[in-house]
Amino acid sequence: MSDKPMEKIVALCKRRGFIFQSSEIYGGIGGFWDYGPLGVELKRNIKDAWWRDMVSGHDNTTPPPAAPSAYEMVGLDTTIIMHPQVWKASGHYDLFYDMFVDCRACKARFRVDQVQDSACPHKPSKRPGEHSECDLTEPREFNLMFKTYIGALIDPSSEAYLRPETAQGIFVNFKNILSTSRVKVPFGVAQIGKSFRNEITPRNFTFRSREFEHMEIEFFCAPEESQDWYSYWRDRRVAWYVSLGLSSSKLRLREHDPDERAHYSCGTADIEYAFPFLSEGEFGELEGVSHRGDFDLRSHMEGKLIREGNELVVERDENGQPRHAGSGKDLSYFDDARQQKYVPHVIEPSAGADRATLAFICEAYDEDAIPDENGVPQDRVVLRLHPRIAPIKVAVFPLVKKDGQPEAAAEIYRGLKAKWNVYYDEKGSIGKRYRRQDESGTPFCVTVDHQTMDDGTVTLRDRDTTVQQRVKRTELAAVIEERIRTA
Ligand code: ATP
Repeated sequence: MSDKPMEKIVALCKRRGFIFQSSEIYGGIGGFWDYGPLGVELKRNIKDAWWRDMVSGHDNTTPPPAAPSAYEMVGLDTTIIMHPQVWKASGHYDLFYDMFVDCRACKARFRVDQVQDSACPHKPSKRPGEHSECDLTEPREFNLMFKTYIGALIDPSSEAYLRPETAQGIFVNFKNILSTSRVKVPFGVAQIGKSFRNEITPRNFTFRSREFEHMEIEFFCAPEESQDWYSYWRDRRVAWYVSLGLSSSKLRLREHDPDERAHYSCGTADIEYAFPFLSEGEFGELEGVSHRGDFDLRSHMEGKLIREGNELVVERDENGQPRHAGSGKDLSYFDDARQQKYVPHVIEPSAGADRATLAFICEAYDEDAIPDENGVPQDRVVLRLHPRIAPIKVAVFPLVKKDGQPEAAAEIYRGLKAKWNVYYDEKGSIGKRYRRQDESGTPFCVTVDHQTMDDGTVTLRDRDTTVQQRVKRTELAAVIEERIRTA
């Protein structure tokens, strides 16, 4: 097991208001989690950093390092419930399932691929099926899409699904984007939004939830350049996690074996992180990057595709009709530069905002000892979050509640608030106030003291080193801004 005990991380998340069990006062509901006041800021900062780095801050005119060429990026926000035919043509209706077994004796349900890691509810030292009373069924399929009904009629004609991924909203809008935003291949479309999967065994805190957020890019490119773009995106996405503080030694890029890949995939790699709830040497998926060929756009043109030898062909029913029809719309692309018409290939970096949030929390969690006001070492818990994603950037304290210090501190607080999420606190000893912020991941604390009233300087304390530096009030915002920028 890791040196960072998961129970302590979960306890900190609750104690400091990062993550709560959904509907906790009613006993909770399995696989659903709420983000508290600090958690919502952290997750929002992660999503904002992703959006800024991948979409709004992307330079359309210059090739990024290692990219085959310059490319454009645009965003999209599509609905959670879509036309049911979307999921039939995409293959999710038939194929988006996990295999499970039930125990007839204890009524527990297990994912087939997780039986080896699960405990028998009657005898936790044994695995399901190993106890004399266990009576497991044969493996059965379980579709992970949540079903709902549209309108007042509850019958098969009104069935619809909560999306299990945001990607399909991008594919079905491919023509709309092309005709309205003047993008040209190669270009990417990004979307952040909720997805729902009726996971058989939600587990490991938020890692496997039933409601979570995707951060997905569908990158459209010419078929002959697709392998280069696939390599580019794999490396680019790993570098993004490292740039925000995940240690590269706990991250790995794992290329799937051909027999592990979906039938349409020309290459899939998972970006994985050594989460503390996993055994030594094990990694959990943070993001999948896959080369999907022309599968998605063709499916929405022609209908559900299956593999026959090297070909993807429309699956037919007994009457020779498509088993699940596509839209019939032409989603091919005319490439002016190449003077060629083709169905673009797709590279999909598909990340989970919740798993990313969990990974950043796990990575940041640390325990050390720092001297108190009297020089005596005190244990502390510190979240060493990258300043860009830290929920609170700066906490401002008056050292004492008199001599004009609260007024001066409040004024500084209001000034910094215009830029960042800043916290004001005048209650309790200064040491306790620092430690509360250390646990919250706040990278900078500003303290107004007697000297401030004389010379207009404040102390700026660094969370990680605990070093305090005197800074002029007038220069504070610029100093903090620079530290965030260069972190
Ligand atoms: P897994 O194999 O862990 O079930 P997956 O391969 O099905 O994941 P994708 O469909 O590739 O996942 O989704 C992309 C990303 O979405 C994952 O890398 C993960 O970060 C996130 N994700 C998927 N399922 C869940 C879930 N149940 N809870 C939280 N995040 C999820």
